[in-house]
Amino acid sequence: VTPLHLRKALGRFASGVTIVTTAECEDEDSVHGMTANAFTSVSLDPPLVLVSISTRAKMDTKIRETGTYGVSILAGDQEPVSLHFAGAAHEPDRVRFVWRRGVPLLEGALVHLACTVVASHPAGDHTLHVGRVEQLWYDDGHPLVFYTGSFRSLELLGRDEPWG
Ligand code: FAD
Ligand code: NAD
Repeated sequence: VTPLHLRKALGRFASGVTIVTTAECEDEDSVHGMTANAFTSVSLDPPLVLVSISTRAKMDTKIRETGTYGVSILAGDQEPVSLHFAGAAHEPDRVRFVWRRGVPLLEGALVHLACTVVASHPAGDHTLHVGRVEQLWYDDGHPLVFYTGSFRSLELLGRDEPWG
């Protein structure tokens, strides 16, 4: 199994796109963000999610330092934001943060999760940062989708009905 084959295979697992954010204090100058699609729901009770962050990403050290992170699940029109936080484009005018429980999140996203880190597991060249969801917010809309290395906007046929 080569890295190239793995990327080609795993790229066929369609995912949403998130921006993971963290900050030392509630000050825009201390915010760091990066694009991540290795985001997973883990547990409902307690409410846990995880993000898999490369040990080479600055974000890995930042999350260890702050002990908190935000996850913003991007809307279909936020591809430029995704490219910006992957270091593949420079779109500072599209970057605006809102704060929830002292955690910065991206304005215009479909979902905001404010998380406290409960465990950080080494996993090869990544770290799995498990976060407890302390506060959440969501809206209806079209998600940004990443598939075989390209971005798409998923057009939903009907309006989402709430569960339960
Ligand atoms: P940098 O590369 O320094 O920062 C990323 C970019 O965000 C820079 O352009 C920086 O200027 C900008 N930025 C940071 N903070 C701010 C701020 N406060 N205001 C404005 N701009 C800011 N990597 C993973 O480890 N896990 C994944 O799950 C993952 N999924 C990805 C999915 C996709 C679709 C893509 C395109 C990339 C993914 N990556 C993932 C790669 C990751 O996004 C990049 O390697 C990223 O550059 C790593 O960021 P960094 O923390 O090293 O910081
Ligand atoms: P790609 O074809 O590299 O990605 C396809 C899939 O391969 C991804 O969805 C992911 O599941 C996996 N993957 C890719 N790079 C990985 C890595 N370094 N570690 C673990 N899994 C990885 O997509 P692309 O458009 O060429 O990506 C742009 C950049 O973003 C590349 O540098 C890529 O490495 C990085 N990226 C990293 C991750 C990650 O670290 N989990 C995920 C996606 C993209």
